[in-house]
Amino acid sequence: MIRLGVTGGIGSGKTTVCAIFEHLGVPVYYADIRAKQLVDQDPEIKQAIINEFGQESFKNNIYNRSFIASIVFNDRSKLEKLNDIIHPAVLNDWNKFCQQHSQLPYVVKEAAIMLETDSKNSIDEIALVFAPLDLRIKRVSSRDGSTEAEIMARINAQMPEEEKLKLADYVIINDEKNSLIEQVMSLHHKFVDQ
Ligand code: ATP
Repeated sequence: MIRLGVTGGIGSGKTTVCAIFEHLGVPVYYADIRAKQLVDQDPEIKQAIINEFGQESFKNNIYNRSFIASIVFNDRSKLEKLNDIIHPAVLNDWNKFCQQHSQLPYVVKEAAIMLETDSKNSIDEIALVFAPLDLRIKRVSSRDGSTEAEIMARINAQMPEEEKLKLADYVIINDEKNSLIEQVMSLHHKFVDQ
């Protein structure tokens, strides 16, 4: 079984691409959603986060996402510490997901952070969703109302697109000119027909 990673910067269209894979019947593991669930449910993760970031990390037993975000978006070392807590748990969970689907030709893992960490070692091939910067800004601001400056701060905190392009095995162009469905279908046939 091939483990295909789908990644891309904020607003690139990862989730949209993965929705097409799901329509084709391919199991998709959404790492960021699953990470949030694990943070909410796993007592060991909760304790490790409190040890690192303090009691304010959980308010009334609920993960204080905005508090943690305000710390890690401005401090790369804190972001690394948070990732060191969450990534091993997600990796373990992803391995279980792969085992559950081991009879299939391939499965997909969607994650914003993949090329930047060791999690790429748990992936066989990587597809990068690539979109022009102006479209990404437009999509994100119409989705959540954030300003261009806020979006650029998030983009600049991520690995530069040129670096990602060098590391990817496939590039899916989401510029509203090239057909997303055709590009995903072509990858699908490659993995199913091999
Ligand atoms: P993030 O990392 O920010 O969650 P993402 O890479 O998963 O983003 P999506 O959520 O798929 O990106 O797309 C961002 C927004 O842009 C969504 O509202 C989505 O509907 C829209 N969008 C993505 N691709 C297209 C497209 N080809 N045409 C029109 N809208 C699109």
